[in-house]
Amino acid sequence: MTYRLTAEQEMFRKLAHDIAERHVAPRAAEIDRSGEFPWDIVGVYREQGLFALPVPEEYGGAGADPLSFCLVVEELARVDATCALILAVQQLGLMPILLAGSEEQKRRYLPRLAAGEWLAAFGLTEPEAGSDAGSLRTRATRAGGGYRLDGSKRFITNGGVAHVYSIFASTDPAKGSKGISAFVVEADTPGFTVGRQEEKLGIRGSPTAELLFDGCAVPEANRLGAEGEGFGIALATLDRTRLGIAAQAVGIAQGAFDYALNYARERRQFGRPIAEFEGIQFMLADMATCIEAARQLTYRAAALLGEQGGARRLPPEVNRLSAMAKCFASDTAMAVTTDAVQVLGGYGYIRDHPVERMMRDAKITQIYEGTNQIQRLVIARSYLG
Ligand SMILES: Cc1cc2nc3c(=O)[nH]c(=O)nc-3n(C[C@H](O)[C@H](O)[C@H](O)COP(=O)(O)OP(=O)(O)OC[C@H]3O[C@@H](n4cnc5c(N)ncnc54)[C@H](O)[C@@H]3O)c2cc1C
Repeated sequence: MTYRLTAEQEMFRKLAHDIAERHVAPRAAEIDRSGEFPWDIVGVYREQGLFALPVPEEYGGAGADPLSFCLVVEELARVDATCALILAVQQLGLMPILLAGSEEQKRRYLPRLAAGEWLAAFGLTEPEAGSDAGSLRTRATRAGGGYRLDGSKRFITNGGVAHVYSIFASTDPAKGSKGISAFVVEADTPGFTVGRQEEKLGIRGSPTAELLFDGCAVPEANRLGAEGEGFGIALATLDRTRLGIAAQAVGIAQGAFDYALNYARERRQFGRPIAEFEGIQFMLADMATCIEAARQLTYRAAALLGEQGGARRLPPEVNRLSAMAKCFASDTAMAVTTDAVQVLGGYGYIRDHPVERMMRDAKITQIYEGTNQIQRLVIARSYLG
């Protein structure tokens, strides 16, 4: 069930599979129950070099191609979406630095992020600016040779555990989205605090927090790219990281399918395993078919992305395919996990089995890094112009 993987891709997939089975799977239920960020898993990723994957070798990374990265996220998500997200968000938070950072900025941040010594976060969303992120209100005004940031961000993954935040703020509100600039804000910057932590339906071990900026003094050296380039940097980042969410969704769906399949073989009703009932077989067949379609779409998009090198702007067909992959894979994850609960009947609804957690975790993949409505807009506009 693989997309003609190279030896290196297969090696990364196997490494992640082993880490998932040995370290992540035994912790998944407890991470969900406690809602605590799994620093022990961060330690495992550090030791095994997983944080290095999306970083080029010249900055201390492994320089893995996008498909390898997706394979790793998929394998981890198969057993736990929260732990897979740790890796996906590291890529999301560091991508603006990779795409738009100066050599000096890259040398300061990327090696530590590749080692996992520092964790990253990406702060775009605000209370009044979600899907319409270009209307954000956080202000960056010139002050004392640098900038002063005032405003707030909402729903920021890794808020409170990250050391480095890629933050988007307006340097020129009159220019709308063209007045947005990107900054790296370090966690201990005066005037920066982490506000409320959200209570969530799923991915409960992943912190989602409000970020508050009150006269936060950011040196000019921490601006990524030129003033006004921020929104383009944010979109270029999401165009590259969205496939990590597609891979997360494929992994969640696969984990739920595997569990439901085994259960259907063993659970007996009316004197036989429920897997012998056509009603269950058809459900399993549809689940497996959608997962395979989502996987192939994700791998194809990742392979195509890998052919683009480090270019900031991607060809429209690459963005379209990754929007399709994110949209289809996350809709698949939601449908498959819901069906997995159904295959288990009442047992699917209780916490002794992981499928209810997978169903709760699947939902977020339809929402973050651009809702599926926004993905559908991107896809439609790519045809309609
Ligand atoms: C757990 C979690 C983690 C997150 N992590 C991060 C993060 O790390 N960094 C970050 O910056 N953000 C993060 N987000 C924010 C996330 O990306 C936004 O929630 C998402 O983009 C949607 O914005 P919104 O919630 O304001 O919804 P809204 O934009 O208010 O949308 C509400 C509904 O309207 C629909 N809608 C909006 N506009 C249109 C349109 N033009 N056409 C059709 N339908 C439309 C949406 O699809 C949705 O169904 C996270 C969110 C959550 C819940």
